[in-house]
Amino acid sequence: MSNLPIKIYPDPILRKKCQPVKKVTDGIKKLIDDMLETMHKNEGIGLAAPQVGVKKRVIVIDVGNGPLALVNPKIAEKEGKDVLEEGCLSLPEIFVQVKRGAKIIIEGLDRKGKKIEIEATHLAARALQHEVDHLDGILIIDRIPFFKKRKLKEKLEKIKKTT
Ligand code: ZN
Repeated sequence: MSNLPIKIYPDPILRKKCQPVKKVTDGIKKLIDDMLETMHKNEGIGLAAPQVGVKKRVIVIDVGNGPLALVNPKIAEKEGKDVLEEGCLSLPEIFVQVKRGAKIIIEGLDRKGKKIEIEATHLAARALQHEVDHLDGILIIDRIPFFKKRKLKEKLEKIKKTT
């Protein structure tokens, strides 16, 4: 396993729509293992492939109940709403309140390429929605009202200068 470098905003790959994975090959399994290691090393609770420079629909999360990897994840159902502060490994020092579905059903393939369907609530639901957003080039700063984004402008400029 390797700890991969994390792409930091405004790296253009973070804005790309990722490609579905055709088959869960050994290469994809290695990507999953490397993403889990990278996420754990950086004390994150989720990571999406574009954050390590790979334009593929692969995500991992670990909200404390063990690691979970999903290939080609798709949110099949969303229920309720809740708002909580989120951060992102690609946006250091930025924390914003994001409204998300409170309970979701997500489907996709596991590390073995087997179809799975998971019901998630609370932090797991939130982390999964955050990571699926990454696969479509959506960041937490896109999920907040315009006036709040304006307040973040200075911090975002600072990240741009240091990367
Ligand atoms: Zn993120």
